[in-house]
Amino acid sequence: MPTDWCPFCPGSGRVPEHYDVLIYPNDFPAFTVPAAEPTVVGDDFYKVRPSYGKCDVVLYHPHHHTSLPQLTVSHITLLVQLWRRRFQELASIRGIRYVLIFENKGAVIGVTMPHPHGQIYALPLIPPRVAQEMAAARTYRRRHRRCVFCDVLRRERKEARRVVAENDHFTAFVPFYARWPYEVHIYSRRHLGTLAEFRAAEENSLAEMLKWIAMKYDNLFQMSFPYMMLLHQASVGAQRPEFHFHIEFYPPHRSKDKLKYLASVETGGGLFLNDSLAEDKAEELRKVPPQRREEVGKA
Ligand SMILES: [Zn+2]
Ligand SMILES: [Zn+2]
Ligand SMILES: [Zn+2]
Repeated sequence: MPTDWCPFCPGSGRVPEHYDVLIYPNDFPAFTVPAAEPTVVGDDFYKVRPSYGKCDVVLYHPHHHTSLPQLTVSHITLLVQLWRRRFQELASIRGIRYVLIFENKGAVIGVTMPHPHGQIYALPLIPPRVAQEMAAARTYRRRHRRCVFCDVLRRERKEARRVVAENDHFTAFVPFYARWPYEVHIYSRRHLGTLAEFRAAEENSLAEMLKWIAMKYDNLFQMSFPYMMLLHQASVGAQRPEFHFHIEFYPPHRSKDKLKYLASVETGGGLFLNDSLAEDKAEELRKVPPQRREEVGKA
């Protein structure tokens, strides 16, 4: 097998000869249906459970070197629609409590397959970080009778200093509480919990925003900018009126050639140190193309 052989490229025998976006079952799934039985026997103290769930790879494009920012908005819309369809399929599987859609981009994140792709995990549990966010949103809603995400959005749009880009249905900003220098969150302006509630115009608008942010990242240091990107959605099953759809980008770079490491204080203390100001980083990102801010500040 040649070393540059890629299973995701047409001609590999592993994918159709023609596709636009494609769900590819993970060759090494961490979770499966039916689940593999635990390899160790648990007890009341050390509990184990079967690794029940699904792992998909989402191929963004048949071209080996065409990453998200290079795709057209209409092509990225196909991706959003695929996410939505697959989200609904996976959410309907019995025992699935969360559908985690994400992308790891770049060798520094540990990506071994350069062919542009993301992943989807259907999980039997709510991932702890999302569960914590959900609990905080629930507490806020109980106390203030409002959605905390809608309040964040209102505040960001009013101040505008941390806003990076805005279009018809989405606002992107460096959060006040950013843990990574170039962290960007994209919020839907309409209060909605999951992709299942998207309107057609919102699919297109999200595609446009994803392209803008990914292009800005690449233009920042004139390099293909690595990141982790996660869709934060409400969990499936029970109603989650407190949750609000958003996407979080965590790029590991602090500058062109410096990475932010999750060192002792971050890893062992759970305390993120960030020596940059969200306002400054937002301004840097605003200034690189594409620059489209005419909507900022409008209610
Ligand atoms: Zn390929
Ligand atoms: Zn909301
Ligand atoms: Zn979140």
